[in-house]
Amino acid sequence: MLHIILFSFISILWFIFLKTFFLSRLKFFSEQNSVLLSEFNSLTQAKDRLDLENRQLNEKFADTLAIYELAKDICNSLEEEKVFAIFNKSLKNYISVGDCRYIKEAADLIKYKDYNILPLNIEENQIIGYLAVDRIPEADKEKFGILTQQLLIGLRRALLYEKVQSLTITDSLTGAYCRRYFLERFSEELKRSKKNKLHLTFLMVDIDNFKQFNDHYGHLVGDAILRQVSKIISEAIRQIDFFGRYGGEEFSIVLAETDRDQANFAAERIRQAIATVLIRVYDEELKVTASIGVSTFPDNALNMQDAIELADQALYLAKETGKNKVCFTPA
Ligand code: GH3
Ligand code: MG
Ligand code: MG
Repeated sequence: MLHIILFSFISILWFIFLKTFFLSRLKFFSEQNSVLLSEFNSLTQAKDRLDLENRQLNEKFADTLAIYELAKDICNSLEEEKVFAIFNKSLKNYISVGDCRYIKEAADLIKYKDYNILPLNIEENQIIGYLAVDRIPEADKEKFGILTQQLLIGLRRALLYEKVQSLTITDSLTGAYCRRYFLERFSEELKRSKKNKLHLTFLMVDIDNFKQFNDHYGHLVGDAILRQVSKIISEAIRQIDFFGRYGGEEFSIVLAETDRDQANFAAERIRQAIATVLIRVYDEELKVTASIGVSTFPDNALNMQDAIELADQALYLAKETGKNKVCFTPA
């Protein structure tokens, strides 16, 4: 009996010991677990924060890249309308704006009453136009503002270029009037001819086979030929006449107070002057010829547009029928 009591007592003691031991272990592990859990939680939070920062940095990088790309694209053009077209196309790639228009005149804004209107100032108090935008999401407003700054830079460049162009009256390679200025003078001369009932002749001169010279001797030689032909023309016309570089290897000439018969004479003289001069290039002497198309006011052309078109047709005929010749528009 004593045995049994002793054994039970020892068992109970043993059980109490084991229970206490395991309970204390369990408590220890559960405390460890909660420490680890809280560490895990704070690490997860840190990771989320880093993810967010990473996302924000990526977005900022994408924005900066977008601005860089847009600025680069915009700089490819020096024409106002094209600059806006590039901006408008790129804009839609980066932010979800609605319809976007470039309006030059304030009076036209009335059609865009429901749009956001943004004046475009290139200098203080100098509004060059307006952006009318159907819808700019609140979240994209800042980005839109930054991109618009790039548009302004592009527009400022285009307008400056236009201004410089309008101040230039001669072609830098040949010294002849540039096409725009030539046409201005042509238009004035036509008005004078109409008013004073005078004839006026227009010549379109095109160097023959010019591409072959370029291909064979290089562009520098081609340029030298253009300069030489320009010089020959300037020496072959009178003081009251004037000429310009119409395009690549085309020159246009206005012979004032000149009718069709006199024009034949003058055009032939110019053609021969070009054909007779030998142009020295390295140790070779090049023979250059040109074809000439002629139209005369008021015999067959009554305005500038017709004069140019008819001379162009006559020039085409000269090219088609052998080159190095003068052709007239049929009277
Ligand atoms: P065609 O007798 O029918 O007039 O033939 P073309 O070879 O004269 O005419 P085309 O239109 O085929 O070629 C004109 C060339 O003029 C092509 C272009 O590269 C060249 N050109 C245009 N502007 C310049 C320039 O400023 N300098 C030089 N070197 N070449 C130019
Ligand atoms: Mg040509
Ligand atoms: Mg030619």
